[in-house]
Amino acid sequence: MGEMTNQIVVAGGSLAGHSAVAELIGLVPDADIVWVTGERHRAYSKPALSKEFMQARNEIAELMLPGIECDLDRLRIVSRSCASLDSQAQAVELDDGERVAFDQLLIATGARARMPGILQGVRGVFPLRTLDDAVAIRESLAGKPKVVVIGGGLIGCEIAASMRTLGLEVTLIEQLDSLLDRPFGGAFGSYFLDLHRDNGVKLIMGGKVDRLTVDNGRVAGVELADGSRIGAQLVVVGAGSEPCTQWLDGSGLDVENGVVCDAYLATSRRGIFAAGDVARWTNPVYGIQMRVEHWTNASAQGRAAARNMAAAFSDRQELLKPFADVPYFWSDQYGQKIQMVGWHQGHDHVDLDRSGDAPGPLARFYRDGRLVAAAGINVPRIVMKLRRQIEEEARTLQAA
Ligand SMILES: Cc1cc2nc3c(=O)[nH]c(=O)nc-3n(C[C@H](O)[C@H](O)[C@H](O)COP(=O)(O)OP(=O)(O)OC[C@H]3O[C@@H](n4cnc5c(N)ncnc54)[C@H](O)[C@@H]3O)c2cc1C
Repeated sequence: MGEMTNQIVVAGGSLAGHSAVAELIGLVPDADIVWVTGERHRAYSKPALSKEFMQARNEIAELMLPGIECDLDRLRIVSRSCASLDSQAQAVELDDGERVAFDQLLIATGARARMPGILQGVRGVFPLRTLDDAVAIRESLAGKPKVVVIGGGLIGCEIAASMRTLGLEVTLIEQLDSLLDRPFGGAFGSYFLDLHRDNGVKLIMGGKVDRLTVDNGRVAGVELADGSRIGAQLVVVGAGSEPCTQWLDGSGLDVENGVVCDAYLATSRRGIFAAGDVARWTNPVYGIQMRVEHWTNASAQGRAAARNMAAAFSDRQELLKPFADVPYFWSDQYGQKIQMVGWHQGHDHVDLDRSGDAPGPLARFYRDGRLVAAAGINVPRIVMKLRRQIEEEARTLQAA
């Protein structure tokens, strides 16, 4: 049995945590909320960090999520991090040793940038995950550096596009032979290669980074396994991300590529839920477990988890609702509106439409004849229609 309290703890001060706290304030009026943010900044939104903010088209104030209006006696915002979880006693320990007991806990600690060891500890080399990362990269642009971007995923491609938009010389190194392979299921490989080449990015495909050249502690270039060297004063690393679950080690929670949850976003321990980039939940739309690293998912999941926590808090099990969602994300590179809906992993067929009805390339992904995902460039209305189609087909299947 846990320590007696009337308290909800939300761990994680970004989008999923913010949307959960905003919802909980109204839903659970008789509970105190402790929001452990892990942040020195107020909650902010990340998508612009690699786009408008990087191009100095907006500033920090425009990134901030709306303030949460409530009685300050009920909401305590703690700018520290959770160091460990005692799920048996229902308490988290903060990094300064304080112990905070809870009836309900939401884990919304998101993900952090993966930074291979050979790229760490050198001035002029940055990941891009946080506002501080983005500010540091922006500050280093003043001297018009030669830029090397490592990684041809979403962050790498967006950074390359932003740097080119600013007129900088950019080389992008990707170990595969195509760009944005994972997010778009390989559907638009040649489109993205042409897009970046036509906009002046020097692409090194199939390139393997061996080490950095360093001069006086500052990066001077990148050396590849084939012996070639590219000069650079700024290196931005887009090598993927990993869920922030290290503080849950030894907690007894089921953690494997994220915090494992059921369809209700509830973890393996009573009273503990998860939402956002850190959560791997069973999505009823597909009947499988997935961890989704998208803005709309974190926002909607934070709210959904809050509603289920409120139901559990007041012991109204009948109000619990599964989180069924067709994932959605967008990207913006050189003004192109790039969108993906659904879950393409495990597809067995792709229909590519480069002409026909669609003004831009469009891909439909199928599994066993069922539409599971779609991606399009500059075709927002068609992509959103396909999202609804995926939702409707899932509903029909569930009802059958
Ligand atoms: C540069 C960039 C561009 C992006 N662009 C897009 C886009 O165009 N479209 C799109 O759909 N998505 C985009 N995303 C993804 C989107 O921003 C994320 O899906 C979203 O931020 C996830 O929110 P989250 O709250 O789950 O996690 P995060 O944003 O990762 O936040 C986690 C929070 O938890 C805190 N934390 C971590 N550990 C602890 C701890 N131990 N204790 C307490 N707090 C802790 C962190 O400080 C942080 O505040 C982008 C992401 C980045 C980084």
